[in-house]
Amino acid sequence: MESGATREVVILGLGPAGLTAAIYAARGELRPLVLEGEPSSTSDQPGGQLMLTTEVENFPGFTHGVLGPELMVSMRSQAERFGAEIVTERASRVDLSASPIEVWVGDPQAPEPTLRSRSLIIATGARSLMLGVPNEARLLGYGVSTCATCDGFFFRGKQIVVVGGGDSALEEALFLTKFGDTVTVVHRRKELRASKIMQDRAFTNEKISFRWDSVVTDILGDDRVTGARLRDVNTGEESDIAADGVFVAIGHAPTTELFTGQIEIDQAGYIVTHEGTKTSATGVFACGDVQDHAYRQAVTAAGSGCMAAIDAERYLSSLQEN
Ligand code: NAP
Repeated sequence: MESGATREVVILGLGPAGLTAAIYAARGELRPLVLEGEPSSTSDQPGGQLMLTTEVENFPGFTHGVLGPELMVSMRSQAERFGAEIVTERASRVDLSASPIEVWVGDPQAPEPTLRSRSLIIATGARSLMLGVPNEARLLGYGVSTCATCDGFFFRGKQIVVVGGGDSALEEALFLTKFGDTVTVVHRRKELRASKIMQDRAFTNEKISFRWDSVVTDILGDDRVTGARLRDVNTGEESDIAADGVFVAIGHAPTTELFTGQIEIDQAGYIVTHEGTKTSATGVFACGDVQDHAYRQAVTAAGSGCMAAIDAERYLSSLQEN
């Protein structure tokens, strides 16, 4: 990584948003540098959440679907073809008030930043919160899912469990009734956190039933999910429920730790954007799941990545004019 000269644009994160921003910025001759993060099951996920899925059937342009990791490899090659520089490192600190913007890689206490850039695109994504039970990670993509829109189709005529009691869980459950024979919502309390309207819809849907006061203690299955082990939080009694799919919908955590206190972030932890992808910091743009709690799709992330690159390009042109 060349750290001397001030960059035109640095992109943090390499999911569909960061990669699309990289493709557009590279084609705009801005020579973007992308810090993709470091492979880790608990923090960064270079390639984004698509690296954790199997078949993607709703990304336009792929008649017969595409594997999530394959799609990301292909987007990455496309960005590199136009000259994007991709580095497998994570930013450890940023100073968004500096002009140019300062980015540290490695020791965050180092006196000098590693990089300076006239603009920054934040595409650090969001992580689905997971249950952390024994076989969950192993069966992710093999019956365990965090996205009904992405994977619901594979559960036609099947028995499905959804874990959680918020709007996401009920939204997933309602969507999954299009496919599954039964959808059982497992919630750790007796009251749902979800909005009244979502509760009403779920309660009146014949396919949806509830297991109250229950937590999932394990996911069952060798090659694919066959069920889940539940514990009644009042009695401590354990029981198994048969299921072909377990959808974990207990919330998302946008990856914004680096920017706390430097940029406007909403109550749910997402970066606030306005007029497209502008943030509250000058020259800083945000795209993808780090600023989107409504859609969270690969294609919407890619779309907003394109917007961020165009917004950054316009911002850089305005600097030259002044
Ligand atoms: P949320 O509101 O934080 O709900 C998370 C749910 O998961 C809660 O019911 C929580 O239980 C449960 N939970 C958390 N950790 C758990 C664990 N370790 N084990 C078992 N259960 C656990 O998250 P969300 O549903 O993703 O919603 C986030 C925000 O987006 C909300 O403001 C929501 O209104 C909004 N949203 C809106 C829509 C919509 O309007 N259509 C759709 C999706 C999301 P407790 O209730 O016991 O805490």
